[in-house]
Amino acid sequence: MNKRIFLASPHMSGEEMPYIQEAFDTNWIAPLGKNVDQFEKELAAYVGIGYGAALMSGTAALHLAVKLAGVQRGDIVFCSDLTFAATVNPVCYEGGVPVFIDSETESWNMNPEALEQAFAKYPQCRCVIVANLYGTPAKLDAIRSICDAHGAVLIEDAAESLGATLHGKQTGTFGRFNAVSFNGNKIITTSGGGMLLSDEEWAIVKARFWATQAREPAPWYEHREIGYNYRMSNIVAGIGRGQLRHLEEHVTGKTAIYRRYQEGLRNLPVTMNPYLPDSTPNFWLSCLTIGPDSAVTPEQIRLALEAENMESRPIWKPMHMQPVFAENDFITAGTVVDEAIFATGLCLPSDLNMTPPEQERVINTIRECFH
Ligand SMILES: *Cc1c(COP(=O)(O)O)cnc(C)c1O
Repeated sequence: MNKRIFLASPHMSGEEMPYIQEAFDTNWIAPLGKNVDQFEKELAAYVGIGYGAALMSGTAALHLAVKLAGVQRGDIVFCSDLTFAATVNPVCYEGGVPVFIDSETESWNMNPEALEQAFAKYPQCRCVIVANLYGTPAKLDAIRSICDAHGAVLIEDAAESLGATLHGKQTGTFGRFNAVSFNGNKIITTSGGGMLLSDEEWAIVKARFWATQAREPAPWYEHREIGYNYRMSNIVAGIGRGQLRHLEEHVTGKTAIYRRYQEGLRNLPVTMNPYLPDSTPNFWLSCLTIGPDSAVTPEQIRLALEAENMESRPIWKPMHMQPVFAENDFITAGTVVDEAIFATGLCLPSDLNMTPPEQERVINTIRECFH
């Protein structure tokens, strides 16, 4: 059996170790410490935003973003539909009610027209969460203008898109509150972790407070609010500092993987996941969709790859199709887009540890499915 080719596995450089060693040497294992402070500063500076709060996960960052946005029990929150459940679950932690917005076909992200229609139906909505799917920027300017016009807070879920840009501006900076993730399969990883990003210092100060059990500044344990244990450890932040130095290299590697698929799958009835002309995705995952004239299904390709010990995965199943959200509304601007992407799409092995000859084998296995 050939060595397994993964969808996306951690890619360590070795530059993480000195930061971890320093934490050991100074016995700053936990809590907090220099790596946490520096990782926040370095990442915020990299994306070009004022402040960051390093947390245990991207989901924790989204949860605190939802709290900062003031979502209360029963409040409607417009959310990307074609995304991972972690975009949406934090709304439910606060008792909010997600309403799902269909995607457009140009970037597979939230359709601004559908968002407008959602505001027409639910003018009371005051919070929108947009994800940048697979590292591809959404129509973030249009979405932000619509939010501004309706007095709604925009939260950007940039968990998958760290390092991607829209007209030169980094994702994770378009929302009022923004979340990135360092989960094991993301473009950079700390094994697990996330960061909340904002230009508003009060928000980040508040998030750090909530994330450390909402401890009031008193010698004893004084609490006026419900808190969480969400803070990133100093060891984990050390991994992040080392990884951040390789973010651009990772984006370059992921871009090369996407281009090799584009080239290698030419002349087949498939299309790669699209992106806006003025955007530079980080190409976290390369995906294909199969054209309507082909009898080949994504599941056939997935099983053919699996037989060769190559990992692929269906596209995120849209939130409006999830049993847990069966009662939630779904807004589309005409023909439903997300169901077609889910039905015809597949995420391909996009691992930075995959060599070009290994990718060639992946491409050949896909090509054989169409013979
Ligand atoms: C990974 C991911 C998250 C959650 O990040 P964690 O660090 O795993 O909690 C949120 N949203 C999207 C779109 C993701 O892909």
